Amino acid sequence: GDLPSRLHAKEFYAKYEPREILGKGVSSTVRKCFEKKTGTEYAVKIIDISGEKGETYQVAQVKKDTYREINILRMCAGHDNIIELHDWFETPTFIFLVFELCKKGELFDYLTEVVSLSEKRTRIIMRQLLEAVLFVHDKGIVHRDLKPENILLDDNLNVKVSDFGFATTVTDHELTGKEVFSLCGTPGYLAPEVLAVSMYDNAPGYGKEVDMWACGVIMYTLLCGSPPFWHRKQMLMLRAIMQGNYSFGSPEWDDISDVPKDLISKLLVVEPSNRLNIKECLAHPFFVREVSYRVLGP
Ligand code: ADP
Ligand code: MG
Repeated sequence: GDLPSRLHAKEFYAKYEPREILGKGVSSTVRKCFEKKTGTEYAVKIIDISGEKGETYQVAQVKKDTYREINILRMCAGHDNIIELHDWFETPTFIFLVFELCKKGELFDYLTEVVSLSEKRTRIIMRQLLEAVLFVHDKGIVHRDLKPENILLDDNLNVKVSDFGFATTVTDHELTGKEVFSLCGTPGYLAPEVLAVSMYDNAPGYGKEVDMWACGVIMYTLLCGSPPFWHRKQMLMLRAIMQGNYSFGSPEWDDISDVPKDLISKLLVVEPSNRLNIKECLAHPFFVREVSYRVLGP
């Protein structure tokens, strides 16, 4: 593409001063940093592209993936609920992606701290997440890795969707088995059709619906504090996902109203074409509850 290349690490270090580690991925480390000129704090994702002898292929792949991530971040720029890429640098050994800093960290950590969220808090968080998804889907992009570790919170607990490392452009159902990512991490947020692609040669591809499934898993997890599909034995967990086998167990769900349960049950639908799309999801009564309650009375 039209990506500029800046070939000296010292340019990054001339402009920014790195600080403590905020997070770590497979081939990246995220650190807090500040811009010397302005004193503004940012988060820098430092991607290692050095590689040993014989790793040329992997390095090329990491670079290609990173360029794709940068391109998609630029396509998705300008939305309040999507992480902003402020600056970037490439050197022979590292790529530096400088992002706006999300001081409150991952939604995952926030959830661990508070255990579960009220329906009201869940509505606020989910609406912001879904507004970001609407923006992304409208641009023909599917995120493919929505989970509470990749949803960050700023000072005011505003949602910032981040980690577009698996994101890709898609015309509906264009993605096939070759596109599928490996099942190395926690598969708890993967849609059944994604698992099917990795299991059967003749499985159909998949599209934006995978993000809607992940939103269903996230919403379930926010409300009760534990994920809908979980089993110590991974094979049983995968089977539960493939069968859409989950329940609103007691006592966690006893005091939660029917409206959010209805929305979750319309997202955790195994057949992708029967799942709510992003527009239908935002139009669900869960998000217009205040209005309908006032109109309809108790
Ligand atoms: P990976 O592709 O390795 O998962 P991520 O982009 O998800 O990389 O970043 C890894 C972790 O670093 C995140 O889960 C989060 O904890 C932290 N992190 C990433 N970006 C930011 C940011 N802008 N502000 C604060 N923390 C961040
Ligand atoms: Mg991540």
